[in-house]
Amino acid sequence: MRITSLVSTLALLTALYGCGGADDAQSTNTGETKQMTAAPVKEDIGDLFADISLDETGNPAADKLLSPYDGPYQGVPHFDEMDLDGLKAALEAGMAKNLAEVEAIANNPEPPTFANTIVALEKSGDELGRVFTYWGIWSSNMSSPEFREIQGEMSPKLSEFFSKINQNEKLFARVKAVYESDVMDTLRPDQQRLVWLVYDGFASNGATLEGEAKERYAEINKRLATLHTDFANNVLADEENYVTYLSADQLSGLPESFVKAAAAAAESRGRVGEYAITNTRSSMDPFLTYSDERDLRETVWRTYYNRGDNGDEYDNNAIIAEILALRDERVKLLGYENYAAWRLQNRMSKTPDRALNLMEAVWPAATARVREEVAEMQAIVDAEGGDFEIAPWDYRYYMEKVRQAKYDLDSDEVKQYLQLDKLRDAMFFVAGELFNFSFAPITDGSVPVWHEDVKVWEVTDKSSGKHIGVWYLDPFARPGKRSGAWATGYRSHDTLDGIEKSVLSSNNSNFIKGAPGEPVLISWDDAETYFHEFGHALHALSSNVHYPTLNSGVRDYTEFQSQLLERWLSTDQVIDNYLVHYETGEPIPDELVAKIKAASTFNQGFATTEYLASALVDMRFHMSDPTGIDPDAFERETLEELGMPDELVMRHRSPHFGHIFSGEGYSAGYYGYMWADVLTADAAEAFAEAPGGFYDKEVAESLVDNLFRVRNAVDPAEAYIKFRGREAKIEALMRDRGFPVPGAETDNKTVD
Ligand SMILES: [Zn+2]
Repeated sequence: MRITSLVSTLALLTALYGCGGADDAQSTNTGETKQMTAAPVKEDIGDLFADISLDETGNPAADKLLSPYDGPYQGVPHFDEMDLDGLKAALEAGMAKNLAEVEAIANNPEPPTFANTIVALEKSGDELGRVFTYWGIWSSNMSSPEFREIQGEMSPKLSEFFSKINQNEKLFARVKAVYESDVMDTLRPDQQRLVWLVYDGFASNGATLEGEAKERYAEINKRLATLHTDFANNVLADEENYVTYLSADQLSGLPESFVKAAAAAAESRGRVGEYAITNTRSSMDPFLTYSDERDLRETVWRTYYNRGDNGDEYDNNAIIAEILALRDERVKLLGYENYAAWRLQNRMSKTPDRALNLMEAVWPAATARVREEVAEMQAIVDAEGGDFEIAPWDYRYYMEKVRQAKYDLDSDEVKQYLQLDKLRDAMFFVAGELFNFSFAPITDGSVPVWHEDVKVWEVTDKSSGKHIGVWYLDPFARPGKRSGAWATGYRSHDTLDGIEKSVLSSNNSNFIKGAPGEPVLISWDDAETYFHEFGHALHALSSNVHYPTLNSGVRDYTEFQSQLLERWLSTDQVIDNYLVHYETGEPIPDELVAKIKAASTFNQGFATTEYLASALVDMRFHMSDPTGIDPDAFERETLEELGMPDELVMRHRSPHFGHIFSGEGYSAGYYGYMWADVLTADAAEAFAEAPGGFYDKEVAESLVDNLFRVRNAVDPAEAYIKFRGREAKIEALMRDRGFPVPGAETDNKTVD
């Protein structure tokens, strides 16, 4: 088991919120980098695990979940043979085996060494890791009431299991001995970083505690695991239980494709002839953008933004208060001032203040832009003789009208050039140009999948043909699949066993499946997200680390690689060859592209403000004293204090803010998207300035070598400087969003 990922593995157990799950779920290793040329350090762990065997489960379904992957490409998961009946027994057996391995390491009579302690930990926990792969599918791709019941029962047990490892005193003593020994000086830089990551994983998770404090720490973690799961399940319940049904006379303004999907959604719920607006972002967002029915917009808006806040059995407010109190108590045991300080110490930002500084530098420009956007929209309302002020359920609708008037840009027209299959081909092209990867579909059925919609590709090196990994794509929405888009992985790269592990990487989204034979058309935003998640996949596939733990992510850095990849969607090569009309095959007209580019800073008031409001509330929640906190009031007061405009809300209101309350993946970490966006904008300018532009070979090579392949084997701040020759600056981000650049002499040219 990779200790550094223990806590984040808990996030996996509930749901991989946000995206970039691959960074949490599994680790991978780096291989033949320049840093590996030092004298080899012994990695042989001898017969340390020789006497340890897996418990008999007496349950063939459990044995399947535990068994090594088999078939092609060094083995692939048995996704076609997953049976929930085996899950509990498989988890129990996997945990037992992993604990036995950890005990063997902790109780080894030999003095602690890099090999018998750190490397041994890297080599432990294989069976449980495989069970978690299936768990992730059941939790995110194929959820069911039966699974959720098992999840509820097993989450506290898993938490207890992780605590047993994190709080194993003998084990920590050995890790500490290696960390503090002279041996450190003889290790390669990636090995030193590995030792530090493992040490820090213990130290910042309670290993230094003793006696009652230690017990309390474990109790808190166990309770938090339950609360995180309850929180996620309450949100899911409100997403599934609230559906707004429309009749045929309530569809005014809605695009045909949306109406078709709504009809299908109603039909699948037994309401033939009606139209279902489900309570998810992918349904709410287009409805609010296009529906002419103001009352219905308000209904759909309220239903969506009240998820987890309905005062019923699925209300999350009490859960939030308890989560915040427990998190605060836990970090106080470790001597930290607040949760955020503890959380950010090993992030790229290092301190809450540095993260707040960034957000507060952008906030005034974002809210000032909201005021401009609202004024423009209000002018339309007034001109149409509407006797009302722009309300939150009007924002998207009038924004679309402004977009059409000002940029003459019809989202539905753009969609006709954004075919899902062509976009995938475009991503493969980009991966070929930047990473020298080639993707070939695997159609012989040799790689099992969990649903017929899931497709797989083999990834190889374009020049040498060398196998790199397998890419899974699960593109369409269906009941039981969580909303949004995300990336994850089922095996990461490492070379610990002397071979280059084949990477199993996966992208997941919730596009609405078209009728058979009809192309799926998506929005520009969705196309960007598609590229984004593919960026996570490329980050995993390009790994060259030697140790599994060095694949782990650094939260405020882990969205950088994926956000950067979004930039290739609007490069000429992609536009000219892949953005073609679904009926005529004609490339997207230059005028339309020019409009899209001109419109790219449009709506940045709304987008930046709704995001920053969530990020700031997250950070304030985790910097405040939670004694007697009323989450609803706290959210309201924090937003008031910030001067949140009335015309919009947080992107994720607290009662359904799964990023921060369904686990700890993004808690005090939602700012990380913007932190990463600063890097993204700055790195994109490196390409824009290069002779070859976004396909400049030299810059691409430096990017892949310095910022993708090394994963977490190099400190992100150092890695970035290697790529750019300096630290990232905020200016590029402000330019991207069309905001005035702070301190710039002529700063108004970017607006309008
Ligand atoms: Zn992401």
